[in-house]
Amino acid sequence: MNGFITKIQRFSLHDGPGIRTTVFLKGCPLTCVWCQNPETIAECPEVLFLNAHCIGCRKCVKSCPKKCFSWDNQIKFNSVNCNRCGLCIDNCPAEALNWSSHELSSDDIIREAIKDKLYYDLSGGGLTLSGGEPLAQIGFCYELAKKAKSLGLHITIDTSGYVPRAALEKIMPFVDLFLFDIKFVDRRLHQKYTGQPNDLILGNFQLLCKLKKLVIVRVPVITGITDRQDNLFRINDFIKQIDPAIKIDYIPFNALMLEKYKMLGKTVLAKI
Ligand code: SF4
Ligand code: SF4
Repeated sequence: MNGFITKIQRFSLHDGPGIRTTVFLKGCPLTCVWCQNPETIAECPEVLFLNAHCIGCRKCVKSCPKKCFSWDNQIKFNSVNCNRCGLCIDNCPAEALNWSSHELSSDDIIREAIKDKLYYDLSGGGLTLSGGEPLAQIGFCYELAKKAKSLGLHITIDTSGYVPRAALEKIMPFVDLFLFDIKFVDRRLHQKYTGQPNDLILGNFQLLCKLKKLVIVRVPVITGITDRQDNLFRINDFIKQIDPAIKIDYIPFNALMLEKYKMLGKTVLAKI
């Protein structure tokens, strides 16, 4: 089975214990205004513009039927009307334009991940499926996690929690650790800043805890949005009431995401 992947990152140190290979999958049902990986939100491949590679030949301006490119001493890219025809990528002589994702099989990923098994074994690391929301591609994740587990790899799922309960239950037997995002306990704020309510997320979190799965909560710390004292206290109280032993990691905002929006020809969802 094939999945849509934006990146495979070897020697990752922040997506679970030890040295890991992190696979970033495409597609996410949430639209968090501070999204750090905007290239993973859409399910379909998108055009990525790498300004540093651009030689200013303007072939993209001439070839794009939707006028997504313009010239103002440098290329300006606006993907709002893009129909993903790929003509700009085909015509760019400098590899300044590329697709944001590629279709890979679970075997392709296993072949890549297994190269670092020695480092996983020495450091307690393994394979992490991230995104986007990796479980949006549940069939692919299930197949991949099952194969990786049969090879003795430690599996971590980095999830928004906004997934059908059935998807979570399906993959659970092959998962050693869930990195589980909780952004708000307040339903209204969750809807406002992520585009969806949080009932499903909080319910899935409670399910994992009830089944004694290993979970680390991740709270993105976004100035003026999630970092308000009442929000952080409510999240802490919610988690500790369910299981006081659960670890909470606070994840700082990474301003590098602003560059990613430019590469995608999009505007940032909110001023952060
Ligand atoms: S893929 Fe999008 S940006 Fe590229 S030529 Fe086609 S419409 Fe234009
Ligand atoms: S075709 Fe490629 S190299 Fe030429 S101006 Fe467009 S992005 Fe830059």
